Amino acid sequence: MKVKVLGCYGGQLPGKNNPGFILNGDLLIDAGTIALNSTIEEQRRIRNVIISHPHLDHTGALPFFAVNIVSNKAETVKIAGIENTLNAIKSHILNGVIWPDFTKIKNFGGKEIFEYMPVKEGEWFELGGYTIKAIPVNHTVPTCGFLIGKGGHYIMYSGDTKTTDAIWKEAAALGDKLKSIFMEVSFPGELKALAETSGHYVPQTMEEDLKKLGGIKPKIFVYHIKPEYFAKVKKELAAVKGYKITVLCDKKEYAV
Ligand SMILES: [Zn+2]
Ligand SMILES: [Zn+2]
Repeated sequence: MKVKVLGCYGGQLPGKNNPGFILNGDLLIDAGTIALNSTIEEQRRIRNVIISHPHLDHTGALPFFAVNIVSNKAETVKIAGIENTLNAIKSHILNGVIWPDFTKIKNFGGKEIFEYMPVKEGEWFELGGYTIKAIPVNHTVPTCGFLIGKGGHYIMYSGDTKTTDAIWKEAAALGDKLKSIFMEVSFPGELKALAETSGHYVPQTMEEDLKKLGGIKPKIFVYHIKPEYFAKVKKELAAVKGYKITVLCDKKEYAV
């Protein structure tokens, strides 16, 4: 599988955008950045979207994506997430006030632009040829990480979280079928208290939780670093031994 990074930071500065990842050209994982770093053709190839939680850095690009696919004649784009997440998008973003409700607007082919697809925590579901499970993690609002499989290979996407258990346990159970982990790390170790209250990892708490993988060694791709602390976090990540850790960059593609 391959991932194109549209944005991979836990904040915005020039050249550093919020989380948004296109898997194999057709599945968007989180929607913090879409239109800023993908062509209109790339956006129109996105068939489905999965959203980890409602925070704006993971949902804020949906309105501009919607506008860019109106003149498309493709099928409706499904937006999947747990009920709390989808309700927040409906109530607070695509609510007819902040932006139109694009589940009621049709594209040039006569199909609704968006359709919400509520998913249940802990249950595998099928979406666009992927097998996906949303697993609750440990953030300030209800948030899910995802296990995403295709052709017998899986990746884990952590979502925003601090120290947590369930997703690591399920990832470990996949054994060598788990090829890569998209891992949030937001702050350097000196801000561990802030990371705790805001529901995020620092490199040291990530290192502790990697032990929960029970010895399997998937590739680790780090995202959600706060741009201000990028250099410090990267340096601390280099001190984590025993894993192939890559700090992601916007606009690059990675084999996962
Ligand atoms: Zn968040
Ligand atoms: Zn976030």
